[in-house]
Amino acid sequence: MTSLFGRHAIVVGAGIGGLTAAKALSSYFVNVTVLERDALPTAPIVRTGTPQARQIHVLLRGGLDALMEFFPELEAELERAGAVRVRVGSESLLEMPGFDPFPRRDLGFDYLCMTRQLMEFVARRFVERQSNIALNSRCRVTQLVESPNRNAVTGVRYDEANGRSNEIAADFIVDASSRGALTLELLDRVGLLRPQETEIGIDLRYATAMFEIPPSAPCDWRAVLHRPAAQSGRGGLLVPVENNCWQVNLTGMHGQLVPESVGEFIAFAKTLRTQTIHDAIKDAVPIGPIHRFGFPGSIRRHFERLDSFPDRLLPLGDVICRFNPAFGQGMSVAAQEVGVLKRLIEARSLDADPLNGLAQSFFVAIQDFLAAPWTVTESDFIFEKTRGQRPNDFHQRLKLNLALQRVASEDATVHQIMSEVTHLMKRSSALRDPQIVSRATALMSAST
Ligand SMILES: Cc1cc2nc3c(=O)[nH]c(=O)nc-3n(C[C@H](O)[C@H](O)[C@H](O)COP(=O)(O)OP(=O)(O)OC[C@H]3O[C@@H](n4cnc5c(N)ncnc54)[C@H](O)[C@@H]3O)c2cc1C
Repeated sequence: MTSLFGRHAIVVGAGIGGLTAAKALSSYFVNVTVLERDALPTAPIVRTGTPQARQIHVLLRGGLDALMEFFPELEAELERAGAVRVRVGSESLLEMPGFDPFPRRDLGFDYLCMTRQLMEFVARRFVERQSNIALNSRCRVTQLVESPNRNAVTGVRYDEANGRSNEIAADFIVDASSRGALTLELLDRVGLLRPQETEIGIDLRYATAMFEIPPSAPCDWRAVLHRPAAQSGRGGLLVPVENNCWQVNLTGMHGQLVPESVGEFIAFAKTLRTQTIHDAIKDAVPIGPIHRFGFPGSIRRHFERLDSFPDRLLPLGDVICRFNPAFGQGMSVAAQEVGVLKRLIEARSLDADPLNGLAQSFFVAIQDFLAAPWTVTESDFIFEKTRGQRPNDFHQRLKLNLALQRVASEDATVHQIMSEVTHLMKRSSALRDPQIVSRATALMSAST
């Protein structure tokens, strides 16, 4: 049976992390209030608070599974709303240096492709239907309020659209506001240290366009992922989304200019190692403008290293870790973090003060979930110009990874495990199976 942990919880931000956290907390608090600075649209359209939503947002299978724990009908509802099911391995084409393309096999699972705005809209509707959650839009949180002894958070101050300022109290507050300014400002104010940050500077430029899927579209794939080579730093991704469209993005590392017009977009696609994306879009009908976005770098905030953190406050999602978006991990990790939160809450249900120290336990417990996606993000050190501290064993890891790719290309079982790790369905330790590692190391020694 579920125990109640308090009367009121507040979630700051109605993005993917915030919506999922609100749904999770609604089982443990009498009421949950979500405060979102944006006006929340009544249709799946992009809003100002999440400008990244104009870019392709891949929801990895592990992320969808994590979301389904809180929104069991999500997969079915997304499909009803137009999301496109793609079979991993057989219907998605992976092009990467040395494998253009990687061998195609049915890897036993699907993922759903849709625009970020559709995904968020469907998840939001589930939250709106939950009777003990109030979703308050146009409420910008300006400050987290601390207790008189400054060791806990007791509420928030926020501004409404009409300029009125309010303060509300809560037993527990989740900061899912993405940037983390509220949590960092609170730490400064109460005299606690900010978390150390690890940054991987990549100056990634994104351009995303939408095309109508032409009747002549290739039948042997539904999605294409083109990973950049170290020399060019140029990549691309094409996925089918709702309304019979392809959403296509092209990326350039280290400040490369990305296209502004459709003509430039198609010309840029021609400069990739293969012509798969170029040939698909060259005669397709574009829909709407090209949307561009700049991403300076991945950032991991080491909250787990702090000696002290205010009680009853829990940051999550992008507040903790921002990954190179080209790997499509951020939403999935945010959803998995909420799963960790839920399990911690359940485990503390008999404690006298279950919220006491919850954040510290959370920071430790999520490290296991951050490890694999962060390792993927660290692969950006393959580029000479990437800024930051390369892990000491980076070259050894890189060699092992290349050898694992070769093993996976030849062995369907290893290919499946590798894809499950990439889709955050399994931990990266699954690839440390002694048999797999010995095959990879044999290949490494053969090539030296
Ligand atoms: C270009 C780009 C492409 C990406 N592609 C992918 C992808 O393919 N797959 C993937 O999984 N992830 C991707 N991501 C990452 C993904 O967008 C984030 O990781 C994910 O949205 C994190 O969710 P969140 O809830 O932490 O933050 P967000 O979803 O950004 O939500 C934060 C919310 O907080 C609100 N807010 C902020 N401040 C306040 C305040 N003071 N008061 C009230 N509300 C506030 C904002 O308006 C917003 O609604 C991409 C990111 C970028 C930049």
